[in-house]
Amino acid sequence: EKYVYFFGNGKAEGRADMKNLLGGKGANLAEMTSIGLPVPPGFTISTEVCTYYYANGETYPASLNDEVEANLKQVEQIMERTFGDAKNPLLVSVRSGARASMPGMMDTILNLGLNDTTVQGIIAQSGDERFAYDAYRRFVQMYSDVVMGMDKHALEHLLELKKAEKNVHLDTDLTAADWKDLVAQFKAAIKQELGQEFPEDPKQQLWGAIGAVFGSWMNQRAITYRKLNNIPADWGTAVNVQSMVFGNMGDDCATGVAFTRDPSTGENYFYGEYLVNAQGEDVVAGIRTPQPINNHQKKPGDLPSMEEVLPECYHQLADIRTILEKHYKDMQDIEFTIEKGKLFMLQTRNGKRTATAAIKVAVDMVAEGLIDEKTAVLRVAPSQLDQLLHPSLDPKAEKKVIAKGLPASPGAAGGSVVFTADEAEELAKNGKKVILVRIETSPEDIHGMHAAQGILTARGGMTSHAAVVARGMGKCCVAGCGDIKVNYADQSFVACNGVVVKKGDMITLDGSTGQVMLGEVKTVPPQLTGDFGKLMVWVDQFRKLKVRTNADTPHDAKVAREFGAEGIGLCRTEHMFFEAERIAAVREMILAADVEGREKALAKILPMQKGDFIGLFREMKGLPVTIRLLDPPLHEFLPQEDKDIEELAATMQVPAATLRHKVEFLHEFNPMLGHRGCRLGITFPEIYDMQVRAIMEAACELVKNEGFSIVPEIMIPLIATVKELAVLKANAVKICDEVIARYGVKVEYLIGTMIELPRAALTADEIAVEAEFFSYGTNDLTQTTFGLSRDDAGKFLPFYVDANILPEDPFVSLDQNGVGQLVRMGCEKGRSTRPDIKLGICGEHGGDPESVIFCHKIGLDYVSCSPFRVPIARLAAAHAAL
Ligand code: PEP
Ligand code: MG
Repeated sequence: EKYVYFFGNGKAEGRADMKNLLGGKGANLAEMTSIGLPVPPGFTISTEVCTYYYANGETYPASLNDEVEANLKQVEQIMERTFGDAKNPLLVSVRSGARASMPGMMDTILNLGLNDTTVQGIIAQSGDERFAYDAYRRFVQMYSDVVMGMDKHALEHLLELKKAEKNVHLDTDLTAADWKDLVAQFKAAIKQELGQEFPEDPKQQLWGAIGAVFGSWMNQRAITYRKLNNIPADWGTAVNVQSMVFGNMGDDCATGVAFTRDPSTGENYFYGEYLVNAQGEDVVAGIRTPQPINNHQKKPGDLPSMEEVLPECYHQLADIRTILEKHYKDMQDIEFTIEKGKLFMLQTRNGKRTATAAIKVAVDMVAEGLIDEKTAVLRVAPSQLDQLLHPSLDPKAEKKVIAKGLPASPGAAGGSVVFTADEAEELAKNGKKVILVRIETSPEDIHGMHAAQGILTARGGMTSHAAVVARGMGKCCVAGCGDIKVNYADQSFVACNGVVVKKGDMITLDGSTGQVMLGEVKTVPPQLTGDFGKLMVWVDQFRKLKVRTNADTPHDAKVAREFGAEGIGLCRTEHMFFEAERIAAVREMILAADVEGREKALAKILPMQKGDFIGLFREMKGLPVTIRLLDPPLHEFLPQEDKDIEELAATMQVPAATLRHKVEFLHEFNPMLGHRGCRLGITFPEIYDMQVRAIMEAACELVKNEGFSIVPEIMIPLIATVKELAVLKANAVKICDEVIARYGVKVEYLIGTMIELPRAALTADEIAVEAEFFSYGTNDLTQTTFGLSRDDAGKFLPFYVDANILPEDPFVSLDQNGVGQLVRMGCEKGRSTRPDIKLGICGEHGGDPESVIFCHKIGLDYVSCSPFRVPIARLAAAHAAL
């Protein structure tokens, strides 16, 4: 078995596609070597050794020692230097390199091979005693910290003392003799602290470093990083041993990092930073301010660019940039070092980029003939698009985070704090920007949510009312923020560390991260550039799934159409009931003593509902529109305050006590499992009758007067048995046919149901006898399958995710193994009875990329999601199809 892979002098045993075995760094060092780029020779110990190391009590395969020896020989031959030699020593770096990049998580050791003897050889090679002792002390610091577990502050303290003694401020002001003395002091301190000599033997140093890198795979930082980024622990890291090149041997030396294109805008120019006379760590550490590599990036006041200072190296690097992009066909992130005017490449990898850059680079590379349209589409992650569609925090702005909740609806916004929806509306009318802060929101707060820039709630999960409504409005929302304690009486809330925020104080929310910040943090507007449009055209060519939107108002529908929605998959009619002019009639209807009373109130609502639907149909211009009949528990519409009850009693001409009694009577312990959905239609058929009449009258009027073609899809919620649907469908058909006859026009319509209870999924074959379409309500289906309240889960679900009991919040990303099985089964059973049944999803999962891919796989016809997620769903659907 082979464990070690050589690279150097134009030849390499590894390749770019061997990342699993060699890690990203090792694989690309091999690849760059093979295509003739200047890479210092070295070798990669494979990830299999890491796996072996942990499986065998931290030991190595028997043959590893010989392989390392043989590879080291080859490096020595190319470099014409010998490891541990007194006159002409070879120094190496030892670095980690996992399959996926884990920046800064694992250990690195530079200048390895130095001791009291070889340092003399380095002095001879470099002709620079100061450089040699500086390298030596850096090595002792790094090695004792990483390999031996020495407290690094103790050595830093000695360095500070030295500077004080010499009365200098900068490291660069210390002399060769100072560094030499410090090396001795460091070693003595290590001996004293650890009771162990600093190893002089270079081979011992090498194996110590290799062991430390493998050991760092299991350090706490790395474990946490892997967890956060879903990197399996059994991948392991590789170890790269490479001959050292020095960027800190004088002013003809330098080191730097660069991107082949601008990683924040995607613009096609070479972008990077470098430092003269420095080692790689100095660029990253931020002790000295790096300089731009070329004049394109230079701003007034910047130090000279590399293009000016080291023009030959710069032009060589610029050529390498072209070679790398042609070869990898993607934007690269590179590290380089210049030693005495000679350029060396130390790393290349696909560069991380913003969403804007991802799109621009992908579209440009198609134009440049580097990649095809398919590849371009796959280069942009659907979840990344969120960044583009909403305002975001100015990355340069300072921020003071005072609490963190769930990132419920993306975007960022600032404003002054208010605690009631009415106040939000009042202040917004006067042009004030406000943030609505509530313990939780209810449908009654819609007007305030609409008026606010953002919404913050202390309670509730990712599908809580606030989250769903805010996403629908494209407004930023931080929900379930347990870090804050809201006190309505005081008009204030307390955040972390006791920070008190009062009404009128400014805060900023970042709905993409869940952060709550004190004061107003600057935001930058969304950018829907021409490139975005171009990419989305390709996206639409590849995808099979249709994408609809969840929209309740013509305005939302319009926004969604601009984002490419191909219909409405869910119009929640209850939101129309909360408008100021109609809530009174709705309450009157609910509280009426008998059918006559209800019908009287419903007659007031009918023309308004009809107006709503005309607006929606017009906006959708003949695209399919699914309208759901009333769903929420009735008590959500009821007045709770005495004053409101009294007012309503007066309008209805009944005693206030009777009304209060009725309100109490309607109270439910588990309203979400109570008198809601189709159960309302069964007990109060006149409500659904009114809604169906409004839908059909709207459709008929438009068909008759405006020459529209419309096929309304009437959707009945929360069906558990086919009988419920049969009864409600018969009622609806009767009304539809009566309206159609009355108008004397031809209008087709569909009657279908939501599948949002497990029993509905389990008996979908029976339900499909009646239902002409299914729309999966995966919010309720998740709630009922898990037996988990969607409004309360925010309190404990984050703990489940942190503890890895659940991989993700199931209200965010569909639980494919559990809830997903019900969805899949529902489709199969539904199609078995009615092969042409239309299948869609309208739960929040319809806008989650992973869930969309699942929906494609199980053969749904469409997904429906909030307007601002329509482009995300389109892109995810294309990824699923490619
Ligand atoms: C659902 O349950 O998934 C759904 C779309 O309906 P609502 O969120 O309105 O309950
Ligand atoms: Mg539902």
